[in-house]
Formats: sequence, structure tokens, C-alpha cells
Amino acid sequence: EKKLGLVIDLDTCVGCHACVISCKGWNTENYGAPLSDQDPYGANPTGTFLNRVHSYEIQPKDAPAQLIHFPKSCLHCEDAPCVTVCPTGASYKRVEDGIVLVNESDCIGCGLCAWACPYGAREMDAEEKVMKKCTLCVDRIYNENLPEEDREPACVRTCPSNARHFGDFADPDSNVSVLSRERGGMDLMPEMGTKPVNKYLPPRPKDRDRSEDVDILA
Ligand code: SF4
Ligand code: SF4
Ligand code: SF4
Repeated sequence: EKKLGLVIDLDTCVGCHACVISCKGWNTENYGAPLSDQDPYGANPTGTFLNRVHSYEIQPKDAPAQLIHFPKSCLHCEDAPCVTVCPTGASYKRVEDGIVLVNESDCIGCGLCAWACPYGAREMDAEEKVMKKCTLCVDRIYNENLPEEDREPACVRTCPSNARHFGDFADPDSNVSVLSRERGGMDLMPEMGTKPVNKYLPPRPKDRDRSEDVDILA
């Protein structure tokens, strides 16, 4: 069985929100419509955002202020409270690949799962009255109608700074397992006991040796 998830690199994320837009585009029914019609960043953004990026300015002692960008979506927890709390069984975790999904026809819109998720990763669709969340683009990753290079989550496909990686954590040799091991991948709020599958890579020291870095503009 697979354990699919994301590695998100807080060192290389530049807060451009391309992943937010591509997620919104793929997961919106009017996918394909001009962005101006989807209006995800209009004056009155509507609908659900399954992936968000928060930016914070932090002020370390005796050092210049720093801007940190923090992408946030469902972490596909192994011990997911959103699943155990759901009274109808609409929320479930797939055995074959560990993706946490909502069966919308069984969802009664009670909102308990949103209360239970410690990461604020669930979004109530006010129009449809059902709960939405990141599906890890389950309709892309196995989609044989898409070219092979597109069979990954829309956010990963779009990120211009290679800050998002998708793969199978059950395979110790996969891209995400190796990256997480080498760069000290962290769980978000491990004290909650949810065992998130997604991992965050911490920012690297600014004065590190960059001679081995890949020049993405080359
Ligand atoms: Fe559930 Fe929240 Fe964990 Fe996603 S991040 S599996 S919505 S508890
Ligand atoms: Fe389950 Fe839907 Fe209620 Fe969430 S809102 S707990 S998915 S029935
Ligand atoms: Fe960060 Fe990549 Fe998302 Fe841009 S697309 S906000 S660099 S994760």
C-alpha cells in the first residue's frame, strides 16, 4: 500500500500563490474558464480554496526582518481526526494510497470535521453545503487521459520554484522520502498526534554554502 503525500520546502517557497491559483482552477467546476471569470483573487473571492499560502513577517533578534511563506492544505494524516469525528462516514482515508477524501453524497454539512482538523484544512462549500478539502488531485494522478508529466497534483505541477514535491512515503527510495530524510522533513504540530503524511522542509540558514545549488534560471 502506498502513502502518498507532499513535501513542501519552506526554504524555496517564494509566496507567489501559483499553487493556490492552479488548485482553484483544477478543482473548480468552471475549470477552463478565463481566470477573470474564476476570480479567485477578485475583490470578493468566492468559493473554497483547498490550498492556501500564508505569509508572515518575523523579526529575529539582532537580524533583519524575514518574510516566511507557509503553504497550507490537508496533510492526509494517518490518524485523521476529521475521519473519526464524521458521523456519516462521508470522510474516509483510502486504504490503497492513504488519501483522505470526502464522499460528498454522504456529507450532511455538519462541519464537525472542520472543528476536528487542527490545521484548518477543511472548507465548507456554502453553495453546495458540503465539505471540501485537498484531494491530492486524485483525479489527475491516476488519470490516463493526461500526459504522464501532468499526472501529479496541480499545485506541484505549477510551482515555479520547485518548492512542492509529490510521491510515495511508503517507498524509502522515493523522491519525497529521500528529500524528507536529507533535509529534516518536519511534521506540522506533531503534538496533536495526527501523524501527518505531508512533510515541511525547514528554511536553510541564509549564510550556507550555495555553491552546490542548482541555478533554476540557467
Ligand atoms: Fe483531516 Fe485535517 Fe489531517 Fe487533512 S489535515 S487529514 S483534513 S485532520
Ligand atoms: Fe462528515 Fe460532512 Fe459532517 Fe464533515 S461536514 S463531519 S464530512 S458529514
Ligand atoms: Fe510557494 Fe510554490 Fe506555492 Fe509559489 S507555487 S506559493 S513558490 S509553494
